[in-house]
Amino acid sequence: MFGKGRSCNVVSVAERGLAEINLAVLGVAGSGKSALIVKFLTRRFITEYDPNLEDTYASEEVVDQQPVLIKVMDTADQDGPVNCERYLCWAHAYLVVYSIDDRASFQGCQAYLHTLSQSSRPDAPVLLLANKLDMDRYRQVSKCEGAALAARFGCLFFEVSACLDFLSVQHVFHEAVREVRRE
Ligand code: GDP
Ligand code: MG
Repeated sequence: MFGKGRSCNVVSVAERGLAEINLAVLGVAGSGKSALIVKFLTRRFITEYDPNLEDTYASEEVVDQQPVLIKVMDTADQDGPVNCERYLCWAHAYLVVYSIDDRASFQGCQAYLHTLSQSSRPDAPVLLLANKLDMDRYRQVSKCEGAALAARFGCLFFEVSACLDFLSVQHVFHEAVREVRRE
């Protein structure tokens, strides 16, 4: 756990010579942030997760043959982006999550994209994740709409599911690492 003592100096990983990358996962409640993080960390889908729990986890990974310590901050905002400094001062990249079966979560994630685009590091990598792909039959947000929103904010875009295969979920976290390394 790395919940305490975050530094407010975000400098590039290469500059610091550290193989350590901080990722913050943002989005409205219920979009599946915790489920995606738990899947990435444990390969398991956990259906019920404390909706108010906010914490930071770490996983040693190898991405493109290079070791990296990925730290992942799970956030639990109740009403959109508030007290954003806790991740704006810390993260190298962001995963913004909505759920394809919940249009309100799609509307809600736009406030996060907007906040990030107005921050002091507007060029920090952002990945837009359309979660709950397994719920396709209840889909309220088309893939085109997701891709268009991502294009508008210059983000990468992925449709994923926390309860389907692990590799697709692992892929998006590793893509975030690649984006930070490209910076
Ligand atoms: P958070 O508030 O964004 O952290 O959302 P949670 O991770 O707590 O997930 C909210 C609810 O959606 C829980 O009941 C999860 O089991 C469910 N959930 C999360 N991801 C998926 C998914 O990919 N597919 C389905 N069917 N349910 C999911
Ligand atoms: Mg959660």
